[in-house]
Amino acid sequence: MTSVAELIRRTAEAEMMSAGRTAPRVPGHRRPIVLQSTGASSCDSKLADDPWAVDRDPGYGPGASAADGVPSSAPRQGPLSERYTGASDEQLDRWILAAKETLGDRVQILGHFYQRDEIVKYADFVGDSFMLAQAAKQHPEAETFVFCGVHFMAETADILSGTEQAVVLPNLAAGCSMADMATIDQVEQCWRELVVAFAVGAEGAGPGSAEGLQPVIPVTYMNSSAAIKAFCGRNGGIVCTSSNARTVLEWAFARGQRVVFFPDQHLGRNTAKEMGISEEQMPLWRPHLPLGGNTIEQLSDARVILWNGFCSVHKRFTVAQIERARAEHPGVRVIVHPECPAAVVEAADGAGSTEYIRQQVEAAEPGQVLAIGTEINLVNRLQQQRPDLTIFCLDPVVCPCSTMYRIHPAYLAWTLESLVAGSVPNRITVDGAVAAESRVALERMLAAKP
Ligand code: SF4
Repeated sequence: MTSVAELIRRTAEAEMMSAGRTAPRVPGHRRPIVLQSTGASSCDSKLADDPWAVDRDPGYGPGASAADGVPSSAPRQGPLSERYTGASDEQLDRWILAAKETLGDRVQILGHFYQRDEIVKYADFVGDSFMLAQAAKQHPEAETFVFCGVHFMAETADILSGTEQAVVLPNLAAGCSMADMATIDQVEQCWRELVVAFAVGAEGAGPGSAEGLQPVIPVTYMNSSAAIKAFCGRNGGIVCTSSNARTVLEWAFARGQRVVFFPDQHLGRNTAKEMGISEEQMPLWRPHLPLGGNTIEQLSDARVILWNGFCSVHKRFTVAQIERARAEHPGVRVIVHPECPAAVVEAADGAGSTEYIRQQVEAAEPGQVLAIGTEINLVNRLQQQRPDLTIFCLDPVVCPCSTMYRIHPAYLAWTLESLVAGSVPNRITVDGAVAAESRVALERMLAAKP
């Protein structure tokens, strides 16, 4: 099977040749990315470039979030030394394995489902963000967790792990464009406006205005900063994952008339629709507009106020892609992630978290054809794990998560060798008060039962 690295490289070379040029060979250029797709093109020719050169540019990097605006406060990664940028794949492999052996159980490598295979193969645990944060909690013997994921996940692992344990993100530029779409300042401004709006004009007028219910409960998706989780913790709110969003909304409706849901509008909308809430009762909050661009009446009638955030990976999936998959593969089963737009979720045969998608693949009958709407690294790996199935990504254009892409084996080698040498690079530390309030919101989630 053709890897996406190969696919991207060939596409870039074909484009160069058709333009009468030869694709440049960058010194130290090794493996940009390894993925697989049914398609023949990538969304960003920079995916084939020197994988650490992108750290010199501002922005999220090549891939799905390349066009998203990165906040000026987002951490930047310093340059790697020539030892790592000039190393061959084999050298990096040797160095990583040697460092891992020296460090033993003192260091655990956590790998997100969306990471490239060259990282996942070194991971002691592979999972979604919450599974990995739980893995950190369950290993008190480890001194350090090397979190091969993105920034908010490393923060959550720091919150749930012991105070003496360090959480390290191999490349500080591995943020998350969706999480960055809701800053704590914007969320606090939104909250102030909602408090005033419900006090002035709408208190008690909206749905579910029974006595004892708060006007609005803040709910944040796991994919948000620690500061926003803490905000929810101190304001009677809660965290959710894509697996338990419905249970969490039910928890919130038992305590409040409405919910304000950060930062992913699609997960919020898909979950609320499944609960029978109409589109009219889900106004969108645009953070740069007064009242989020709504009237007090709209907010009063709301059941779920949706923050205007989205995942640029999952936003790419369309109903047209599903129709094409069904036309080309009669009998195909289409499974998508709930961060996809509502029309896509409705047109699919099933929708759920990355863990749900993984379980669906595990349970599939041999010979079945599955079209999957989620990040292509995971789709690629699922096909490798089940060669008796035909599995392909719904999006024919290869477009990985820009920020997961930033964790390259060169960064992992640098991180592990630094730990061997006694320094802790790129430590992610959540302030004690923020961590305590975040834990309140996370513990409410863990205690919420369907
Ligand atoms: S896949 Fe989407 S939500 Fe996940 S880290 Fe990438 S941008 Fe963020």
